[in-house]
Amino acid sequence: MGLEHPPEEGESALPEGTFKNQTVFITGGGTGLGKAIATEFARLGANLVIASRDPEHLKAGEDAIKKTGAEVLTAQCDIRDADSVANAFNEAQQKFVLPKILINNAAANFPVPAEDMSPNAWRTVVDITLNGTFIVAREFARRHLEAKTPASIINIGASYAWTGGPGFSHSAAAKAGVKNMTESLAVEWGPYGIQVNCLVPGLFPHDDMTKDIQKNLERTNEKDLSQPALRVGQVRELGWAATFLASPYARFISGHTLVVDGANWQRRHLTMPAVTSVREQMGRGDFDPNPPKK
Ligand code: NAP
Repeated sequence: MGLEHPPEEGESALPEGTFKNQTVFITGGGTGLGKAIATEFARLGANLVIASRDPEHLKAGEDAIKKTGAEVLTAQCDIRDADSVANAFNEAQQKFVLPKILINNAAANFPVPAEDMSPNAWRTVVDITLNGTFIVAREFARRHLEAKTPASIINIGASYAWTGGPGFSHSAAAKAGVKNMTESLAVEWGPYGIQVNCLVPGLFPHDDMTKDIQKNLERTNEKDLSQPALRVGQVRELGWAATFLASPYARFISGHTLVVDGANWQRRHLTMPAVTSVREQMGRGDFDPNPPKK
């Protein structure tokens, strides 16, 4: 049986026009979960600013938002670069107003055994996922502190922030930082009217998943049966959670991490299943300190 399926796409628990005349700035909003979250805000009346690097992703996000009838601006931006982030906010303010809501969604990830990971791979993932998330939050908050206006930040996390993530040590460490940073920022910026929360998606397969992540997912044959809910998440369920957290009905929620994963991150075994190494799960042979160049 498992957990019930959600209402249809297009439905919402929030009143129509909840985000009318408000602007939402979302990083990585042209693909996957970011696009789904952006679409839910657009359906509820928000103007959207989608910020990321790849023009094709930006176009895909723009098309999705336009279909809802909402207004959208795309801003090419690398969240690791503070100037690039500041420019994106300048463009957003020129077209709309200072965005009231920030969805800090962009991240980088790919599975690799820790012993095979290059220092550069580690640095890149941490730089995008943790440092980039801070750079965007900082720029957004400084503008609101100056303007003395209330605002809401939702950082997108991951449950291996608590459990660790075999094969994802770079991303798991970065997401642990994102969750912890959420708590510091919520306390620091609460007095200025800025809510800071974290939203953790469980398993939400989507068409934009990178080849590496897709390949990793294919290692589990029956995805529904791998979940206590006996189903994976529907991307709209994450969009509903994000719109609730940024809505007037969640004003007293801050410093919180909301997990939307059908209990997937909890321990689920009575007995202890045998451990299989990450190398084995990924079909890699024995460790070779000097692998042949591809
Ligand atoms: P995705 O499709 O790979 O999206 C990542 C987005 O981040 C892309 O749109 C990418 O756009 C953007 N991005 C990456 N590096 C960037 C940079 N340096 N500057 C600006 N933008 C950058 O991933 P997703 O599955 O939708 O995941 C979205 C969020 O949910 C991530 O934070 C992820 O960690 C989290 N999450 C996802 C799942 C899941 O099941 N899908 C589970 C747990 C957590 P460009 O390439 O255009 O820059």
